[in-house]
Amino acid sequence: MANREALRKLPAVDEVLRSPEMTALLAEKPRNLVVETVRQVLDRWRQAILTDGAKDEIGREEITSRVVKEVIRETARRSRPKLRRVINATGVVLHTNLGRAVLSPAARAAVEMVASGYSNLELDLESGRRGSRYAPLEGLLTNLTGAEAALVVNNNAAAVLLALSTLARGREVIVSRGQLVEIGGSFRIPEVMAQSGAKLVEVGATNKTYPDDYRRVITDQTALLLHVHTSNYRLVGFVREITVAELVSLGKEYGLPVMSDLGSGFLVDLSHFGLPAEPTVQEVVASGADVVTFSGDKLLGGPQAGIIVGRRQYIEKMKKNPLTRAVRIDKLTVAALEATLRTYLEPDRALHEIPVLRMLTAGATDLEEQARTLAEQLRYVVGELAAIEVEATISRVGGGAMPTADLPSMAVTIRPRQMDSEKLAKLLRAGEPAVMGRVQDDRLLLDMRTVSPGEGELLVKAVAAALKPGEEEER
Ligand SMILES: *Cc1c(COP(=O)(O)O)cnc(C)c1O
Repeated sequence: MANREALRKLPAVDEVLRSPEMTALLAEKPRNLVVETVRQVLDRWRQAILTDGAKDEIGREEITSRVVKEVIRETARRSRPKLRRVINATGVVLHTNLGRAVLSPAARAAVEMVASGYSNLELDLESGRRGSRYAPLEGLLTNLTGAEAALVVNNNAAAVLLALSTLARGREVIVSRGQLVEIGGSFRIPEVMAQSGAKLVEVGATNKTYPDDYRRVITDQTALLLHVHTSNYRLVGFVREITVAELVSLGKEYGLPVMSDLGSGFLVDLSHFGLPAEPTVQEVVASGADVVTFSGDKLLGGPQAGIIVGRRQYIEKMKKNPLTRAVRIDKLTVAALEATLRTYLEPDRALHEIPVLRMLTAGATDLEEQARTLAEQLRYVVGELAAIEVEATISRVGGGAMPTADLPSMAVTIRPRQMDSEKLAKLLRAGEPAVMGRVQDDRLLLDMRTVSPGEGELLVKAVAAALKPGEEEER
């Protein structure tokens, strides 16, 4: 009963709202949000008094003042945007959950430009007539890849769907059983095929497929030979994979078009930076594929987009497909992609200015220096609260690309003394900006490969705030 008695010490909603701090808060935030937060905070206090005890030691005024503080903090948290900045210290360069590619400064500036005013998105400025939103991209893409024509849609899943629907609706597409890929987020080749209205004809075994397997199933119903890059897994061991070049000669033999879904698709060879040799888009186009599709926001390092390059006759047909309108890109994408592609006209510049390429090719000494600097700053601000070390680690390309590539990297490790590392990881995720690291052997690893040079200071502040005693109950 003492608890019930103590409930009288709780202020009424109106009383809380009349306090001067609340007047200031109400001037800034929507009234509904503030009132609802006051109710919730009071509810929490009511529950706490009823279940945990009467809080005899604190008086009414003190309770009111604490309630007010909690309301202010909670209102701030609840009015924060849900989509927030995250510092990626996971070492996974193309982290799909963290938004894949970070855009280059030029791409960011282009987005800002096109978002802040009107633009000639579909206007030919010279003639004053209607133009195509794809025009600025098509010239760059044909120039960079050597293809005759190009089209860009919302993402690569849409690119594959559009290409299949245009070239093979109601007819058959032959794919090797070793290439029936699932990408994640329910993109599976057999299912996309079904959506497109094309009929999948599987050939070969999971591990071995030969040109003769195709010859046996080609009929007058066959519309297309499809090659899918096994971007997120590798077949190793007793394996015989079909190549794009082999499909191209089969295509010539039977008069059939060949399409290659490259998945990631990139324009510069990174093998001399220790990355696996993978075919570039130019190479696949040169090998004779009629249609090639790839993502804008994987290894290319641009905005989310699905890029289709290939022979004019097929691309023109796709442009006329009503699906193209449904999967078209918006002006922000056009702006960011044009700027990204322009940078590729000078490959050396691309390596420095496109964040994905810079992260993938970052050298061991630079990463180590970055780690040592951060460790030193962290030791200075966290003092006895955690043990801070620098150690070698392995980063990943991510985004379903180069799954077997180990990228040697350097990390700062944090072993907190007053909480476990999962708790620290959780507090860092709740911070502003949020920080994502990796928990390993009860330490939190911050991999330097994916941390931009300008983010060091923010990281130090975020870690210090998370480790500070007392911070925890305030959250
Ligand atoms: C990633 C990927 C896709 C899907 O691309 P999105 O741009 O994410 O839609 C399709 N095919 C392959 C082989 C891929 O690797």
